[in-house]
This record gives sequence, C-alpha cells and structure tokens, in this order.
Amino acid sequence: MSEPTKYIFVTGGVTSSLGKGIISASLAKLLQSRGYRVTIQKLDPYINVDPGTLNPYEHGECYVTDDGAETDLDLGHYERFLNVPTSQANNITTGRIYQSVIEKERRGEYLGKTVQIIPHITDEIKRCIQILGTRNNFDFVITEIGGTVGDIESLPYIEAVRQLKWEKDEDCIVVHLTLIPYLTAAGELKTKPTQHSVKTLLENGVQPDILVCRTEHELNPQIRNKIAKFCNVTPNAVIQSIDADTIYDVPVLMMEEKLDEVVLEKLHVKARKKPDLRKWTEFLERYKHPRHKVTIGLVGKYVELKDSYKSIAEAFNHSGAANETQVEIRWVHSEDIYARNVDEKLGGLDGILVAPGFGSRGIDGKIEAIRYARENAIPFFGICLGMQIATIEFARNVLGLADAHSTEMKEYTQHPVISLMAEQKRIVNKGGTMRLGSYPCRLIKGSKAFKAYGVEMIDERHRHRFEFNNDYKEQFEQAGFRCVGINPESGLVELIELEGHPYFVASQFHPEYKSTVMNPHPLFVSFVRAALEYRGKENALSKRGGQVATH
Ligand code: GLN
Repeated sequence: MSEPTKYIFVTGGVTSSLGKGIISASLAKLLQSRGYRVTIQKLDPYINVDPGTLNPYEHGECYVTDDGAETDLDLGHYERFLNVPTSQANNITTGRIYQSVIEKERRGEYLGKTVQIIPHITDEIKRCIQILGTRNNFDFVITEIGGTVGDIESLPYIEAVRQLKWEKDEDCIVVHLTLIPYLTAAGELKTKPTQHSVKTLLENGVQPDILVCRTEHELNPQIRNKIAKFCNVTPNAVIQSIDADTIYDVPVLMMEEKLDEVVLEKLHVKARKKPDLRKWTEFLERYKHPRHKVTIGLVGKYVELKDSYKSIAEAFNHSGAANETQVEIRWVHSEDIYARNVDEKLGGLDGILVAPGFGSRGIDGKIEAIRYARENAIPFFGICLGMQIATIEFARNVLGLADAHSTEMKEYTQHPVISLMAEQKRIVNKGGTMRLGSYPCRLIKGSKAFKAYGVEMIDERHRHRFEFNNDYKEQFEQAGFRCVGINPESGLVELIELEGHPYFVASQFHPEYKSTVMNPHPLFVSFVRAALEYRGKENALSKRGGQVATH
C-alpha cells in the first residue's frame, strides 16, 4: 500500500483486565486476514525500563522477543495471533521514554531548553509510535495503551494520542474498550460507567471513534443507540465484546460485529477483500472438539498466578489442537513436593513439565518431580530452569555427585554442573543483562528433537544467566544424558535428552515463546504426542490387570 501508515489506538476505560490485548490482537488478525501488513505495539505506563526486573506476581510472565527484548506478556498474544515476530520497538514503557529523554538531555540535544513532559516526553512517545510505521512500512500500527484512562501515569500517552489524532486526522483513530456491567438486582445492563469513561477521554481532548463494549449479556439495539448518542459515536461503531469461551474465539466474534469493517470505514480505507479466517476456524474446530485428552503436570513456583506461565499454557493449547487432544494442566506447586508425597502429587499424570524460574525457592520439589518422571518413564519436558534441574538431578542420582548444584543456588558447590559463563561473572546490573533473545542451535541427527523439528539448524529464544557446565559433558554423555542441541558458535548445551527413556527432553531455551496458532511449537507437539502414547499404554496395562483406568 503506497498509502500512509494508519494508526489505531486502543485505550481502556472503567476497569483494567477488560482484554485490550486480545481485542488489539483480534483486530490485527482481521486486518491481516484481509491482506494488510499489521503490527501491534504496547505502551506501558510504569517506570521500569522493561518488565524484565518485575516479579511475575506483579506483572505475569515476561515475554522475550527475537531481538532479546524483555517485554509485556501481551506481545505474546500479538505473536500467537499474527504469527509475525515482534521486537523491542513493540513495547515501550514510561521508564524507557524517560531514559531516552534524559540521555538526550545529558548529550545536550535540547540546546539549553527546559525539558518538560509536554513537548519532550510526548514527542518521544510520538516518535516511538511512528517509528514502527515508517521503519517497517506497515499498513496499520495498532497501539495499545496500558492502564485505564484517568490514571495519572497514562496522561502523557493520552496527550500524545490527542496530538497525533490532530496531526494525522484521517490516518488515525481511537478505539476505546469499556465495560457495560449487568446489575442482577435491577436486571439491567448499565451504560453510565462507559459514559463517564468517554467523558474522561473527552476532558483530555480525545474523542473515541469506536467503542468496544465488554459485556456478559447481549447488547440490544436500544442500548447500542443510547451508548452511541451519549458518547458521540455512530451506532455501527458500538461494538459488543461478549465473554467468550476462549480468547481464540474473539477474532471471529469481532468479525461478526464488523469491527474491522468499521475501522476501515473510519480510516477511509477501501476494503480490499473480506477477511479470510478459514485456517483460524479450522484451528478452533480442532481445539474445541478434541478426540483425546491428556493431563500434564506443570511444576513451578508461581502456579497461584497462571499468567506467570502464559506462553506455556498457550503452547499447550496450540500443540493440543495439533494432536486433536485437550491438554488439561494440573498446576503443581514445587514447594509442596517431597519424596514422601511425590506419588500423591504427580501420580496419574500423562506428562510432567518443570517450568522456568529463578532462585532457590521450590528447587527440592522440582528435583523430586524430575526424579519421579525419570524413574517411572513418564514423559518429561524441562524448560530453562527445568533443564538445569534435570542436570542436577541426573548428576546427583545417576552420576552419584551428591553435592551437584547450580552456582545460582549454591555458589561454592563441589560440583557446579550448572554455572555462570565468564562474561556473565562481570555483570552487576540486573536489567537486560541475561543471555537474551534468539540464538542458533544445531540438533544431533537421530535425536527426538531432530525428529520433532525435522531440520538440523533451529533458532530459539533465551532468558537466563546460567549454563550447562561443559566440563562435565563427557561424564554425563557416557551415562546416557545426551546433549542433542548445541550452540554452533559457543558450544553451549541448549537441549538434552535421556537415552532409554520414552520421552525426556529439556531445553535451555524457551520454546513456548515461539508457539503460535498457525505454528504450534514442534517440541510441545512431540511432548503432547508422547503423553498421549504414554496414556494409551497405561490404559492398556490397567485394563489387562482388570482395573479401571485411573485417568
Ligand atoms: N535461573 C536460571 C538462569 O538464570 C533459569 C532462568 C529461566 O528459567 N528462565 O539461568
């Protein structure tokens, strides 16, 4: 399209957690399925430079892009929906904006001017928004603004939107996501909170063009007209976003509500073709009507907050659908697992995944979980810390190195089977200093991973400081712990498998970040398949023994 890039802002009102990320991703999906080039950006109004230093309890999972940016978990949704990689430019925080303004000020770039929120901070925000459109030649840039209108911290962002809307006129619209609550006692849907939140936007000089109304009940035409009238939008721009069974239904629901059509109309773009969601609905069909079921235990220390493992849970949805299998996750807290209760905690599972993580809390439970999976030939998948713990477990219980540990948990252990690389030892700052982003890996032919990927060279994303200690490699390999994925440049071990076990695979990288609806991750697909096979065998065994299958 030789046309200028169109900018769509998505703001939120009334309350947080209305699903701005999913609405943004769904709108992007619809525009993409009409043949446009679309990207989505998230502006986060907090002062951390990135969410890399945030505790998962605060902000859920930290999502990592190919270029090594530690970003908001909404970027995961963008990639899973669009199947297009994002980068640092897709996630901007207040911290990053201020950091760059302050650095410019220190370099003297403001030529003696007083540096202020308006225009300097707002100009920097506008630059970060437009850079995506100009640099990559996108037809549409959708920018989701974190937080809720009226928050003090989102004010500079709303002001930047006001200015851009003024400057770009027809090339810029605002979609406001709001809540229409249902009062059970009155038996009515209420529009007042929406009126108030639009008023707040108006006080800041921004008239929304489209309202997406989150609701538990259908909006009838009277309500739609009432909202349109009170909020100065056309009736066709009042879009209902009803609670859905799954996030993957939302693009279809938004298509039925014609959100994409109204967006094109408001931006004066002549529609090229109808959205083509055939592949998407095929996925939905498989996802919603599985023929089999497996239960996977996810062992981690943040299991109370499922958002901490968002990408893993979604990767199971994608790979489950690919296997026509419903993957039920049993969340198991690693701190609750001991040798004496491991059978009770993990018995009956079809597969065990040990999750990524940091620090010593829950480590012993993870070691027990891995020992249980290894000794009982239960399919096992370890990710990042999961691979490191698998290494420690093997060292202690198979190689007999009783004191084996990671130097992250025990600095002066006699057997540092997981340790820091030399370049990591010098680092003092915490933010953005891990081994981050995409690195190549060569797979050994004949390995399960090679079979799963079907290629020798892969690229996967990393987020960790500690590594398998190559001084121990030979000893491990001789005992059947095979290093089947190696970084061709550094020689670092990226993927391991156990010989003689039906499925014991663990990766130093994070495969979950690259799983999308259209490209379920090969390692998750093969793990779910292994779990299915295991379940089949277990069922056959228990039937032969005259017992009823327990799962
Ligand atoms: N804490 C480990 C490291 O830094 C693992 C990190 C992770 O699981 N993402 O190496």
